[in-house]
Amino acid sequence: MNDIRLYLLQSGSQQCKVHDIKMNQGCGADFEIPVPWFLLIHPKGNVVVDGGLAAEGLADPRAYWGDAVDAYRPVMRPEQGCIAQLAALGLAPEDIRYVVLSHLHSDHSGAVGRFPNATHLVQRREYEYAFAPDWFAAGAYARKDFDRSGLRWQLLEGEAGDPFDLYGDGVLRTVFTPGHTLGHQSVLVTLEHSGPMLLAGDAVYTMDHWNEKALPGFVASVVDAVRSVRKLRALAERNGATLVPGHDPDVWKTFKLAPAYYD
Ligand SMILES: [Zn+2]
Repeated sequence: MNDIRLYLLQSGSQQCKVHDIKMNQGCGADFEIPVPWFLLIHPKGNVVVDGGLAAEGLADPRAYWGDAVDAYRPVMRPEQGCIAQLAALGLAPEDIRYVVLSHLHSDHSGAVGRFPNATHLVQRREYEYAFAPDWFAAGAYARKDFDRSGLRWQLLEGEAGDPFDLYGDGVLRTVFTPGHTLGHQSVLVTLEHSGPMLLAGDAVYTMDHWNEKALPGFVASVVDAVRSVRKLRALAERNGATLVPGHDPDVWKTFKLAPAYYD
């Protein structure tokens, strides 16, 4: 495995409340969560995992994301958009072969349609739900991110396709982890020196969620969310993987961010 690198990136943060992340906790206290995304450099083609918030939304956040900005206020500069950050690493939009989506919530869908050569890999259940979400979940999706003509999609079939090995070499595998949304998936990246890194996405917001001390503050199915954590814990244990939670401000600080990388 030569020249395989994983970059951890962040498109700013979101100001919210503790209870938005940890159910029934915090008594209304303020909280601020990082918005992570990832870049895998791979000889068969570079991969963006998620992509953070859309930089295009910053000019008029309410027009772009609707009332969701009242609960999750973006704190982000234009240069923290995925295109700009990849440019800073020397990559053009044409250099991305896949965009792998954990799910299609707006703090993860900012890379969809921004890379002309990319195939977008998402679970079928997530793709379909994103176009017809239930009322409580509707604000989390920014349809203008993913409802674009001419996009190439590759839809995965849940448990049936699990785990999905993108290049057949064990470097990037996706695992179906529903609960946060109906079609959420997590990503396991296995590196030569750093070992396996489990990009849990929103299947694991914080360590409280991982350690079964708090249910997530936003969830489509509590039972599925709890069982997906169990599934990921077993996977991490079996592989000796390092957990990267989706929105844990304390744990996120412990990782080295781009331009540093894991290999
Ligand atoms: Zn989410």
